[in-house]
Amino acid sequence: MKKLFASEDAFELQAIRSELDALAIPYMVKNEFAGGALGELPWQEAQQELWLVDETWFNRASKVVNAFESKLKPTAESDRNEWTCSECGEENGGAFEVCWQCSKAR
Ligand SMILES: [Zn+2]
Repeated sequence: MKKLFASEDAFELQAIRSELDALAIPYMVKNEFAGGALGELPWQEAQQELWLVDETWFNRASKVVNAFESKLKPTAESDRNEWTCSECGEENGGAFEVCWQCSKAR
């Protein structure tokens, strides 16, 4: 078995699980009920893990996880995404919608 993904966020886990289900990738969840039964920990703090039952699915499954994680951080990605002004050739940061040099829209 191979560990695929771990998160304290049940919603993240659920999102990955439904993707894996859709692709019929076999997996199992560990610690799914950790903390819940005794009430010592809030359910959010119980880290859950997704494990691949069959490692031959790993490439496929890790694409699902990578795609999901990049969706979680769209802002950080676009900040690094510099663009070049077509008017004056100035380099601008991804956060800017207009050229800081000549104010031409991106
Ligand atoms: Zn410009």
